[in-house]
Parts: sequence; structure tokens; C-alpha cells
Amino acid sequence: RNARDILKNELREVLAKGTSSTPGLQSDPIATKPDFGSLEVYYQTVHRAEGGYPASGAEALVRWRHSQRGLLTPASFIPVAEEGGLIDALGFWVLREACRTACKWPEHTFVAVNVSPAQLRRPNFAEEVFAVLEESGLPPSRLELELTESSLIEDNSDVYSVLQSLRSQGIQISLDDFGTGFSCLSHLMRFDIDRIKIDRSFVSLLGTKANGAAIIGAIVALSRNLGISTTAEGVETEYQRDFLAALGCTDLQGYFFSKPVPLRELDCFREAESAA
Ligand code: C2E
Ligand code: CA
Ligand code: CA
Ligand code: CA
Repeated sequence: RNARDILKNELREVLAKGTSSTPGLQSDPIATKPDFGSLEVYYQTVHRAEGGYPASGAEALVRWRHSQRGLLTPASFIPVAEEGGLIDALGFWVLREACRTACKWPEHTFVAVNVSPAQLRRPNFAEEVFAVLEESGLPPSRLELELTESSLIEDNSDVYSVLQSLRSQGIQISLDDFGTGFSCLSHLMRFDIDRIKIDRSFVSLLGTKANGAAIIGAIVALSRNLGISTTAEGVETEYQRDFLAALGCTDLQGYFFSKPVPLRELDCFREAESAA
């Protein structure tokens, strides 16, 4: 067996332990067999580009604290989960954690959760998300689901109706890693989306000789005309922050503001949390 298969089986056990005991709601993070560690959700804040850059919400980013391999980032196990049919269980665990957590944040803030293409293909995906929201008590308008172009490229009318259904309840839909795929814009625009996340690869061009500013400016102008919010990802410098704010991006996210941190280190929403 290769390393991938081993990881897959370990992840299966981690998920089984965390999801089998109580059907429905779990109150604890996934506690696992000591050998394999446990899953944990990190949060990276997203900041308004106006008014002194207050945090408008945060993105949930999963980690696997593996007892032998250390802290694993999603790149090393999300593909394994997708390939092994485990992404639904993993995705719903993250969604539940994120919704429960965001309930305690200030009222106007959102939590963003990444959704794999396979999850979106579940015919009952929308109903399952509604159930998680109801369990947690988080208002739908405070949940943002981040989809990638690859979720939308297959000409799939089911995906279309799932998205319609999610949006009809007020859930926000954002298009992640915008500009990295190959889909044509008019195709993407068939889907009603609330936000575009401009990929870090464009942001990193700012201040270099390449035409990053022109590309981002065009994306922002187009989005504005369509009434779509824009978040620039991977903001690492003050220069980038100021430039992107001047270009009219609505929100900014990146190491300049904060790296993804475990919940206990997420300080900016805490005051409201303890006051509540
Ligand atoms: P993403 O959705 O594009 O998330 C942003 C990634 O960029 C995160 O990597 C984050 O740590 C990193 N990042 C944020 N700001 C900066 C910056 O200023 N500079 C640089 N160099 N990097 C920055 P991470 O946490 O390793 O996640 C990687 C990808 O894994 C995510 O990319 C997302 O596609 C996927 N992922 C994470 N959590 C989940 C999940 O719960 N479900 C699914 N399906 N995918 C997930
Ligand atoms: Ca994302
Ligand atoms: Ca992204
Ligand atoms: Ca990315």
C-alpha cells in the first residue's frame, strides 16, 4: 500500500470516530484515535477595504493535527478525501464547526466555508446545509459558501438548482480562486453569485512590471457593474492593501492582516463573544 492509501484509511478512521457516535449534532471537535490525531478548523479574517479595515468575517480552513506527521495543511489530505469518497463527511464536519463557531461572533460578520465539487453534486446538498444552519442557529445570510469554477463548468442543471435553492434562503455564494480556471466568463455569469475572490496569483503581480493592476481593475469594474462583491486574496503587503482598496475591492484577505489561526487565537471577534 502506498502512502496515500495509508493516509486515506487514517482519515476514514478519524472521520468515523467523529461522526458515528451521535447522529446529527456533535458538541466536541473530532476526537480521534490517539494515533491519528484530529481535525481542526483554522480561521483567517477577511477585512473591509473601507473604514479602517474592520474584520467583516473569516474563512474556515481545515487542518489535520496528525499525531505522527504534525500539522497537515489541506493540500496534503483534501485530494485524498475527494478520491476516497470522504469529502462529504469532512466538508459537513467543517461546515458544522464553522456555523457553531460563527454564531458567537458579532451579528454582522460572516463565516466562509469551502465546498468541493463532489459535495455540490449531492442532490440534497442544499437541504443538508439548511439542516446544519438550523442546528447551529446561524442565520443563512451569515454563511458564505466558496465554490470553484470546476464546480460550475460541468453543464449540470442540478448544480444550478442547488445554488438557486441555497441563495433563496439567503446563503451567500462566492466564486473562489477567480481567474485561475479556463471557463468563459459568460458561462460563469449564468450562475448568480454574490462574491468573487480574486486569486492570489493576480494580487502578487501588483507592484511588479506585469499588468496585475489592469487585470484586477477589470475584474473589480465588471463585478461592480454586476453588483458582485470582490475579495482580494493573498494580501501580504501594505502596498498591496492600499492599491487594492484604491482599485475598489470590497474586501481584503491575506497574511498582511492575519494568517489562518486556531479559534483560540482568533482575537478580533472575542469581545462580542464574551459579552454575549
Ligand atoms: P483557498 O480556499 O484558496 O484558501 C486560501 C489559502 O491561501 C489558504 O491555504 C491560506 O492559508 C492561504 N493564504 C491566505 N492568505 C495568504 C497570503 O497572504 N499569502 C499566501 N502565500 N497564502 C495565503 P490553506 O489553508 O493551505 O488551504 C488551501 C486550500 O485547501 C484552500 O485554498 C481550499 O481550496 C482548500 N480547503 C481548505 N479548507 C477546506 C475545506 O474545509 N473544504 C474544502 N473542500 N477545501 C478546503
Ligand atoms: Ca477559499
Ligand atoms: Ca481562494
Ligand atoms: Ca487559492
